[in-house]
Amino acid sequence: MAEDKNKKPSVWSKYTEEDKAALNKLCDGYIDFLSRCKTERESVREAIACAEKSGYKNLDDVIRSGEKLNPGDKVYYQFMKKSVVLFQIGTEPIERGLKILGAHIDTCRLDIKQNPLYEDGGLYQWVTLPLAMHGVVVKKDGTVLEIVIGEDEKDPVFCVTDLLVHLSQEQMKKAAAKVIDGENLDILVGNYPLKEGDKESVKAGILKILEEKYKIETEDFLSAELALVPAGKARSLGLDESMVLGYGQDDRVCSYTSLVAMLEIANQSIGKTACCLLVDKEEIGSFGATGMESKFFENALAEVMNACGDYSELKLRRALQNSFMLSSDVSSAYDALYASSYDKKNVAYLGKGMVFNKFTGARGKSGASEANAEYVGKLRDVLDKNNVSYQFSELGKVDLGGGGTIARIVAVYGMEVIDSGVAVLSMHAPWEATSKIDIYETKKGYSAFLKDI
Ligand code: MN
Ligand code: MN
Repeated sequence: MAEDKNKKPSVWSKYTEEDKAALNKLCDGYIDFLSRCKTERESVREAIACAEKSGYKNLDDVIRSGEKLNPGDKVYYQFMKKSVVLFQIGTEPIERGLKILGAHIDTCRLDIKQNPLYEDGGLYQWVTLPLAMHGVVVKKDGTVLEIVIGEDEKDPVFCVTDLLVHLSQEQMKKAAAKVIDGENLDILVGNYPLKEGDKESVKAGILKILEEKYKIETEDFLSAELALVPAGKARSLGLDESMVLGYGQDDRVCSYTSLVAMLEIANQSIGKTACCLLVDKEEIGSFGATGMESKFFENALAEVMNACGDYSELKLRRALQNSFMLSSDVSSAYDALYASSYDKKNVAYLGKGMVFNKFTGARGKSGASEANAEYVGKLRDVLDKNNVSYQFSELGKVDLGGGGTIARIVAVYGMEVIDSGVAVLSMHAPWEATSKIDIYETKKGYSAFLKDI
């Protein structure tokens, strides 16, 4: 019989002062990361900066110089500045498999259309919030302008308007999914006419500011990637500061903790080659050149094996099939306000440690990846040996929907993979909540995996 996880003591009660200090250090770094890196490009840049500090080299440079890679060497490979993979070469031949931590760094946001405006449906919670603009504008000559407007206290912000509640009788009759139509997510950018009385004068004023202050012309939006995200920093949540409130914790909470765990072993000798994979495009189905469906990971691994002087097509296939992976993504935490949406015996709870989903998918196991019982058994042993607190769960009630992750994509290679990560409250809302103890236990879980799997 499954036990009622409600009755398990919270992990907090087991902590020493030392544990608490380590937890606070990790979470302070995490809050800073959440506040500074809100897009996949910003996250890739930060991951590379941290990797270089830990002695990682750019794989492109290694390929160019023809340098040979040896056990202990560390390389990163970034793809289109939106996905990045770190490799630390182990003493075992790579064909025996890797140990891979994988997570996604794209987040839910409003993308600005090429003929400016925005897109994306189902974001009814995003109205009337201060929004910041993040992204790049690429000029015809290849110059890349980095744009961040709305994060500095002196910056202006943007917002999507909503109807005065007194006038909303019609709106209130709509289903929540339709309250704000996708095409009605107009961003308020200005109200000051350049020339009094002129039609289109406000627009002209905005274009003038874009040109003078930001050096952007209207046509430049054609080669831009600009997103609107909630403005402001992530913070500690609750009087006891036991939680984190921040934008895009799905899935940067798993990305950050995976990266930290990976960099912690930078100076250790390891058997199997270790890998940390941070990918783009998960929120829109993992398609596209920088999503997990792309071949960039396989290609990068082929290059690494080649640089080790140990490449063949067959060895590459063996390496992939012999690998172990934690596909790390957030899990929906039990919310007492919406109790009926969850199966209480099989839901993740805030504060009960790292979460594992043996299977994902919709309405049961449709479209799912499912981990083998043998792999789960091995993982339980590794986690228990390293005193990691963990819980097994499923996303929500079987018939209410579900979700997928990158697990099903790497499962195609025949490798052992399971979904794991951190429980999140208000997943996909502009501000999501997590428990600091879950963040810490999950990082511990990743470290245990890299050490002992
Ligand atoms: Mn996710
Ligand atoms: Mn998501």
